[in-house]
This record gives sequence, C-alpha cells and structure tokens, in this order.
Amino acid sequence: MIPRLRPPFTAGEVVTTFRTGTFQDIAAFETAFGELFGFPRGLYFPYGRAALYVLLRVLGWTEREIVIPAYTCAVVSHAVVLTGNRPRFGDCSPHHFNMPADHLAAQVSDRTAMIIPTPVFGYPVDEAEYARVLTEQAPGAFVLFDAAHSFALPPKSSPLFHRPDAALFGLGLGKIMSTLYGGMLLLRDRDLHREVQAYRDGHFQVARPAAEYRRLVYRLVYGLAAWAAFREPWLTPVDYLEQKTSLLNCFTKQYYGLTGPSLPDDMTTRPPQFQAGLGLSQLAKYDKIIAERRRLSRHYARLLQADGFGIFDHQVEPTYSHFPLRVAQRTGVLQELQRRGIQAGRLIDYACPDLPGYEAFQGSCPNASRLARSLINLPNWPGLGLHRVERVVTALIKIRQKFPEYFL
Ligand SMILES: *Cc1c(COP(=O)(O)O)cnc(C)c1O
Repeated sequence: MIPRLRPPFTAGEVVTTFRTGTFQDIAAFETAFGELFGFPRGLYFPYGRAALYVLLRVLGWTEREIVIPAYTCAVVSHAVVLTGNRPRFGDCSPHHFNMPADHLAAQVSDRTAMIIPTPVFGYPVDEAEYARVLTEQAPGAFVLFDAAHSFALPPKSSPLFHRPDAALFGLGLGKIMSTLYGGMLLLRDRDLHREVQAYRDGHFQVARPAAEYRRLVYRLVYGLAAWAAFREPWLTPVDYLEQKTSLLNCFTKQYYGLTGPSLPDDMTTRPPQFQAGLGLSQLAKYDKIIAERRRLSRHYARLLQADGFGIFDHQVEPTYSHFPLRVAQRTGVLQELQRRGIQAGRLIDYACPDLPGYEAFQGSCPNASRLARSLINLPNWPGLGLHRVERVVTALIKIRQKFPEYFL
C-alpha cells in the first residue's frame, strides 16, 4: 500500500539522536531554525499550539479579537478561546481553501488585536492583497504567520515579507519537518522574545525523574512506531485499525481536540532533548525536502489537469505540505483508492466554526463548511517517486470511469 505520509526521519535517526541528544541541541535547533527563515533564534515548544498559547498569555490579552481562517487546524482557535480571547473566523472562497483578502477585510476592524494569515497546505495567501488590507485596516495589529503545516513564509519578493511579527511552525507527525511533537515560534521583536522565553522557561517543567524516564522511553517507541506505521508490513494493519476501530483515535482525533476546545495535559512539559536533535538533522536537508515535494506535486498537477481534474490555483509556487484534491464524494473516493492500495488523507475535514464548543459561530462560514467535506490529500512525501504519483493518478482515472458521480 502507498501510505498517505511518511515521517521525514528514519528509525536510525530516531535511535541515534535518542542516544546522543543533549541540551545544546535545543539551542542549536532554535538558532538554525531562526536563521533558515530570516528571524532571530526561535523558541522551541512541546506543541505548536503551546507557542500560540504562551504568546497570547505574554501579550496579556483577554477578550481581544483575533482573526483566523475558518478553515484551519482546530488547535489554533482552541488556543485563542482558552486564553480568553475571541476568534473572528474568515471564510474561504467557494473555490479555494485559503481565506481570500476580502474575507479577511470583512473580519478586520479597529478592534482587531491579531491576524493569523495561514497558507493552507502550503499554498501562499494572496500576499499583495493581504498587505493592502493590513496597511489600510489594521496597521497596528500583530501579525502571526501560521506556517505550522505549510512552512511557507512570504518570500523576500513579497509585499508581505516585512509584515509578520511572528511565525509559527508545527513539528508534529505529518508536518513537513517533524520532531515527533513540537512547535517553533519565531519572533521579530527582541523584547517580546525575551519575555516569551522567560515565561516558557518559568512555566514549562521537566517531568519528575521517574515520569521523565517513562516519557523518554514512550517517545522513543513512538518515534520508531511512527516510522514503521507508514511502511509495510505495518501500514496495512495500522490502516485497518484506523478505519475500523477507535484504537488510534488518541493519535488522530483526540490529538486535535475535536470534541471541544481543549489543550493537551502535557502541553507545558518540556520536550525531551533528542527531539531537537531529530529536528537538526532534518534542517540540514530542508531545501531538498521542499524541492522534492514540489517535484512530485507538479507532476500531480500536470497529470490531473491533463485528465480534466480540477486543481487548486496559486500565484506563487506552494511548498505543498499536502496535495489537495476536491471531490464530490469523499468517502467513496477514499474507499476506492484504498481498494487499489492507496491511502489518501483527509487533513482538516472540518471548518472550525462548526466544531463542538463553537456553537455561537456555527454555519457562519458556509464555504469552509462545504469545502471541508470535499477535500482529500494525495500522498506527496519525499521518496514517493514519480512512478507512484502516476499510479495514484491512474487509480483516480479508473475510479472516475466507474463512479463519475464521485467527482466534480
Ligand atoms: C499542526 C498545526 C498547528 C499546531 O500544531 P500542534 O503542534 O499540533 O499544536 C497550528 N496550525 C496549523 C495550521 C497546523 O496545521
């Protein structure tokens, strides 16, 4: 079976960094990460959402308005709500999962404290128009770029390049780079950086020795299991368990808190040092990772377009954290792909305003609600190879011949 993702580390790297990981690795990882994206040294957190949570705490805000896309990862709105602030959800367009500038503009006012532009699946937002809206309507608002799964900051040539005050990256399983769990916060302002660092270092503890030891072993096993779970002979049984049972929900549904705004119990426990070592070894191949995702995804785009499948447009080349495809009947397509030995994903299969705990916002972003039900993502992990891209497209063509109603 072709897995929907493969972690960007090997089992060997997990074992090696586990044995050699030191405290210096965290500092080195933070420095190298900041450098790669043109920011001062980063701040490494146990989760991406922890970084946002701490940032909002340090800013000292409550009941402030924060504009986020309706179609984004639930943990972003959870962090906003659980710090006592107010999300303002911007809908996406009927044809694209990103929040367009006019929907951003509709949510922004002089009460806006923060805006969180999010290039979903690595597809850049409309940078010129975002820059205009920010300048005209919210010149003082804090701009946090959520690059958590996209790793796509505005390039130097972009009108948005100088605008982000901060950028957030996710390092959980399934992100472009992964340290098993984790998130990186990049901050422009040195004073704010110092304050956030002080807060983190004061509030985030190392577990007690016995618990810390268990945690380390658990993380080692998790790292090796994550590596194995997306390879045969484990992939097929793991996929079966995921489809037919709720045994793996603790790694999938519960991870995102889809039953109501919540944050993980261990959110303020410091990550084991070896995780940073794992990150360091991926930073060294970061450019290759992105180049490979683009090569595979361009191949998808070419083949799918040639066969009349609709693909999502973009002005600037995406980083393709995922390759999204819109279909009419998602469950049918996923099942048929699975029968042909292909596991496709359904990352973010909800719009945040429709989640439990957000009843006041329910249905407020109809485009996002509709789109969220119709997206799948095709495997595009480095190492997949162009021949497997072709296998996936051939399978889609065959499925469409049999079930034309499954497609748009
Ligand atoms: C994954 C993700 C996050 C946060 O990551 P965690 O480490 O899971 O807290 C935030 N925003 C987006 C868009 C994401 O995809």
